[in-house]
Amino acid sequence: MRSRISAKIRIGRTPLFNLCGGHPALDLVNSLDYRFSDRERLDLLTSYDDLLRFVEQTQLLDGRQIRELAKAADPAIAARILRSAKELREAIAGIFYAYVDDRAPTADQIRILEKNLGYANRRRELRWTKPMRGERAGLKWSWGSSEREPELPLWVLAQSAARLLMSDTMDRVHACAHESCRWLFVDTSKNGTRRWCQMRLCGNRMKARRFQARRASES
Ligand SMILES: [Zn+2]
Repeated sequence: MRSRISAKIRIGRTPLFNLCGGHPALDLVNSLDYRFSDRERLDLLTSYDDLLRFVEQTQLLDGRQIRELAKAADPAIAARILRSAKELREAIAGIFYAYVDDRAPTADQIRILEKNLGYANRRRELRWTKPMRGERAGLKWSWGSSEREPELPLWVLAQSAARLLMSDTMDRVHACAHESCRWLFVDTSKNGTRRWCQMRLCGNRMKARRFQARRASES
């Protein structure tokens, strides 16, 4: 491991992704660390298991769903889905950075997101849910029999990205001002002046990831 960073810290055998982006779609983009530096670029999404951990850590899927998917994963299918996840991530990244840099994304980037949304829309089912935990009964989207399909992480990530991209929150999506970082985040500060992915780290020109990697190695 290079000394400089790890946004995905291994504590024991469990890698944790750095979620300082404040939204699953942005944290997904940030999982290709130093994406604009040929010399330092580091992909933190290295297996289907990583993808499952990411959607669990960002609460797009719950522990029960993750365990079902992990059990059913065939190595060849898992490898194909990892490739699709990276293709989706790069398309989403292209669209977010186009927005942040005030230019248009490419037609291919939009088409890849649209393709994944199309798959998701064809699998989801409307269900009438019974009242539970104080909530009223009502209509909800469900994955039904598609819940165990290994592509499920792709669908929830595409939906999550599309929701953000088509929301007013986009006005608060910024890239870290540290030029070799450029991680994306939702600026939730009162006056909208946040400049860094993590103030005490990129702000102080000391990377969050280095700091955390050191803490992880000490624990
Ligand atoms: Zn940063």
